[in-house]
Amino acid sequence: MLRTHTLIIGGGLAGLAAAKALEGKKDYLLAERSPRPGGLAATVGKGGFLFDYSGHLLHLRWPHTTALILETLKGNCSRIKRDARIYAHKSWTPYPFQVNLSGMPYKVKSECVSGFLAAYAARRSQVTGHNPLEVPPQMASGQQAARSQAGDKTEVFTRWTRRVFGEGISKHFMLPYNSKLWQYPLQRLTTEWCAPFVPVPRPEDVLEGAYGRRRDGLGYNTVFHYPKRGGIGALPLALARKAGGLRLGIEVESVNLKKGTALIKYFGQVRFRRLINTSPLNEFIDRAQDAPVSVKKAADKLRHNTVYVLNLGVRGVKNTMHWGYFPGERFPFYRAGIASNFSKGLAPDGCASFYIEIATDGQALNLASAETEVINGLKTCGLIKSSSQIVEKLWLKIPCAYVIYNRERTEALPVIFDWLKANKARSIGRYGAWKYSFMEESIKEGLEAAEQLLGGR
Ligand SMILES: Cc1cc2nc3c(=O)[nH]c(=O)nc-3n(C[C@H](O)[C@H](O)[C@H](O)COP(=O)(O)OP(=O)(O)OC[C@H]3O[C@@H](n4cnc5c(N)ncnc54)[C@H](O)[C@@H]3O)c2cc1C
Repeated sequence: MLRTHTLIIGGGLAGLAAAKALEGKKDYLLAERSPRPGGLAATVGKGGFLFDYSGHLLHLRWPHTTALILETLKGNCSRIKRDARIYAHKSWTPYPFQVNLSGMPYKVKSECVSGFLAAYAARRSQVTGHNPLEVPPQMASGQQAARSQAGDKTEVFTRWTRRVFGEGISKHFMLPYNSKLWQYPLQRLTTEWCAPFVPVPRPEDVLEGAYGRRRDGLGYNTVFHYPKRGGIGALPLALARKAGGLRLGIEVESVNLKKGTALIKYFGQVRFRRLINTSPLNEFIDRAQDAPVSVKKAADKLRHNTVYVLNLGVRGVKNTMHWGYFPGERFPFYRAGIASNFSKGLAPDGCASFYIEIATDGQALNLASAETEVINGLKTCGLIKSSSQIVEKLWLKIPCAYVIYNRERTEALPVIFDWLKANKARSIGRYGAWKYSFMEESIKEGLEAAEQLLGGR
């Protein structure tokens, strides 16, 4: 039987980062079931185009991981100012919607502004106990006000968006867009994920965005990084080159944490002392032979959506936008982007590469009819003129794409993580930790898990 100190399940960014931190310090086996490393951050080539699993942009926030990512890419990286837009009511307006209402028809704009001001006033009177019109404006940035804007484990999305943004912004963007993205009833979706992803503006920002200057400095991703060559897959490939313990095309079929053993396809039994899982938490618990019934039941309650990405190679595109959001019902997709606008190397000369994202609640998508609707949608919003411009197509499926935040998740995670901790196992990364997180966070969690393990914790 093969023996290793640490078994890492999954060679996506979290697993590769853990391997990097263990390299040369502890013996490890990094088992990746796919024939290539990178997980969701892999890039696929077809017909001279390079396609990612939808737009995968680096939003760098922490000095340590930023330095590691930039060093790993060794100059193969551009820093790019975001050009994101929203298509609603037959018009384009810059993202984020809540501070860029200028592009919207008059009636929509006034509903959004008046709704926001009414919600703001209600929030302020709750926080201060005073009539908002009598409170000095600088109090809005105080800690109490900030707390009242953030979602928590109990507040559901429908209530949160109306409380924070008011009726108009909720009706014209937040509710239809999030409904399409999550594919889950928004009156049951909890809001812990909102804080970093949904920027909450001040009244002056909303007013200025509606009637004054364009506002694009709001949100978590105003600037992003992206490899100059090779798509986002250049990052995991560079990490994988130095991961001596990485084995591709081998799947962990079952684990027993108490015994410290795993059964790996094409490899047989492996004995380990420590385990780092980055595969989806519900699947991992399903494979854990010694998980108690209470843990199995908790994992059964975890839900996620599925995203289908239609990648298109398109000739003769002049648009400079990076990506756009589509709240309208007539579009089957919630987001569409032009990847070659952040790296020319993704498409041959004279062509652009598009990614179009459609979410389902797990149900299979009829690809042929979805394709027709997507192409009609792209024509309607003016991104393409004719289907004859399309020279390449590739569907990519992300079975587990966005984990669902609901009351069941809040209750299930402590049950699962307490059991894992008691058995000295770690489950990290976007799906291992079962959260809405980013590539940089997966890398951070991989490094931290390995460092804790090296520190004897
Ligand atoms: C539609 C979409 C768009 C996104 N856009 C962005 C973006 O713009 N910017 C950003 O920073 N992040 C983005 N993300 C998030 C990003 O993809 C993830 O945060 C990150 O890639 C997750 O890395 P990971 O290693 O945690 O998980 P994964 O990439 O899922 O890696 C897990 C690995 O485990 C392997 N595996 C699973 N089961 C087994 C098994 N039993 N045995 C062996 N191997 C197994 C899988 O094959 C996979 O390679 C996006 C995600 C989605 C769904």
